[in-house]
Amino acid sequence: MATVGSVEHFINEIIPPTDICMENDPIGLHVGDRAAPVTKVLVCLDVDADTLAEAKEHGCEMILAHHPLIFRPLKDVVAGNAFDTSSLVFDAVRSGVAIMTAHTNLDKSDYGTNAAIASAIGYDYSTAMPIDATGLLRKFDAVDGTTTKSLAQKLACKLNVPVVNMTTTNANRPVASFAMCSGAGFSFLSDVVKSGADLFITGDVGYHEAQAARAAGVDLIDIQHYSEGMFMEVLVPMLNARGADERGGVEFIASKKQHNVWTPITV
Ligand SMILES: [Zn+2]
Repeated sequence: MATVGSVEHFINEIIPPTDICMENDPIGLHVGDRAAPVTKVLVCLDVDADTLAEAKEHGCEMILAHHPLIFRPLKDVVAGNAFDTSSLVFDAVRSGVAIMTAHTNLDKSDYGTNAAIASAIGYDYSTAMPIDATGLLRKFDAVDGTTTKSLAQKLACKLNVPVVNMTTTNANRPVASFAMCSGAGFSFLSDVVKSGADLFITGDVGYHEAQAARAAGVDLIDIQHYSEGMFMEVLVPMLNARGADERGGVEFIASKKQHNVWTPITV
């Protein structure tokens, strides 16, 4: 029977932990007993009260999350603590749910966040050119006729977010190439400028950051951090398609309770 340790090994074969793109990125097993048996694994973007409850509902003994649960050292592990992580760790241990994360190594994977977003708009992340030292930020040749507005519209239509924002001085500007980094990748702006890309797609962009992109002559599309959740559509079927022997008969389930923290209000 599969164990937390054997599932961890299986995941590490597919999403190598050596591919992390951020120093001290806290990936790997955060909570659990490597000897404990596993039959089902819930895959989600974040571990929160909803996804942990969902794992328990489905009888999942393990969660594979993209965002690290324990990002900073915890001061305590106490139920009902105002600091959410502390309570979540307590609940996971008490409920026997192991928690593993694949973060920037998943961002870079051919089955990860960037690959899923690129695929949703008809591009192939695995063949796009890496343009920064980590290899995470990649440049794509845009299909003929692409403009800033047409690309923003396509993203708005195909991604799992209710709204995308763009900043440009000319929405009909032709886009020959664009750079992309899922999540919060704005710190890569100087690499984007150096690469000569016309446009940068990322998430979590602040007002003054958008101003900086305009000043640098780079159009910007903010696809919200939550768009990363699309990786589940690529990764989960791929994991389940592996031989039953290879995955120890474990079933991987994409979270349906994962929710965006932002809700748009329109008038
Ligand atoms: Zn992220």
